Amino acid sequence: MKAAVYDSREKLVVRDVPMPQLDANEVLIKVINTGFCGSDHSMVESRNLKDGTIIGHEVSGTVADMGAQVAGTSVGDRVIIRPTCCGKCRECRLGKPYLCRVDRRTIGLGDFPGGFAEYLKVDPRMLIPIPEGVDSQNGALAEAFAASLHGIRCSGKEEGSALVIGGGSIGLALVRLLKIMGFGPIVLSEPVEEKRVLAIDFGADTVVDPFNENLILRAMDETGGAGFDTVFECSGLGESVQTAVNAAANGGTVCVVSIIMRNIEIMPVTLNFKEVWLTGSYSNTHEENIRCLKWMAEGRIDGRPLITDYVSLDELPHIYRERIDTGRAIKVMLKIGEEF
Ligand SMILES: [Zn+2]
Ligand SMILES: [Zn+2]
Repeated sequence: MKAAVYDSREKLVVRDVPMPQLDANEVLIKVINTGFCGSDHSMVESRNLKDGTIIGHEVSGTVADMGAQVAGTSVGDRVIIRPTCCGKCRECRLGKPYLCRVDRRTIGLGDFPGGFAEYLKVDPRMLIPIPEGVDSQNGALAEAFAASLHGIRCSGKEEGSALVIGGGSIGLALVRLLKIMGFGPIVLSEPVEEKRVLAIDFGADTVVDPFNENLILRAMDETGGAGFDTVFECSGLGESVQTAVNAAANGGTVCVVSIIMRNIEIMPVTLNFKEVWLTGSYSNTHEENIRCLKWMAEGRIDGRPLITDYVSLDELPHIYRERIDTGRAIKVMLKIGEEF
């Protein structure tokens, strides 16, 4: 089968690799669409991968085959794939299965090869059915929305004013979810015009170009001088964390959704004076994916406008260099199998 694999010299190359061999308790998935995630980019650039690794975890597909011990799944089922958990450890009992330390199996960043390939194999507990009325592209986008929903849940807020810093796919998905959930006003800060336009379509009340406007002055303006109840950092830029704290209201919450792997400077007294809660979010749950798929089925979420590049596996190495590594694409979606 064909796969895009990591290569330390070329970054990504398309190769012929052996088909996955199923154990009795494994399921073979024919991949239809796989989204390229920001964390995939970070993994490639970290150069910590072994040559030949297949990444990619934002997958929609159909069940193609299964081992003798697998029950409750049929060939042809439409599914997305999320990690397993044990259900019993401290973290699982706290409702944080994504932090499970006992039985966390994942595709594309863990022990199973990922979705930049024609087929992959999974543990059956990883499967989440795609409901009627949701196409394969939205299916592959469900995880990005679930990650955004998880950011909102981590903030602990259920209403109020919200600022999203950074209009990549996660920031834009957040805008959509905040709108559905009744937050307002919703403001997005993003320097790229195309992304600001999409944010308005997704439900932002105001968009700000932080390169040409003073974000903090605008933030105060939009909230009658109070600042925002919740601020989501989705730009991946370390400096934005302090900006987020500065834009938060007294008692407001800042949730760092983007993964920032470097030291940043922050002035702690800015947390004291406003008693700002500073937290972060990581991954998402099956339940959050199911919730987002349901909103997709109801027509409240359509993530497809996020897709700026719809390409084949063969095109991925080129698109990686030209559109992903340069930050030009919002969402690169791979077309691998026949869409539904
Ligand atoms: Zn992802
Ligand atoms: Zn566990």
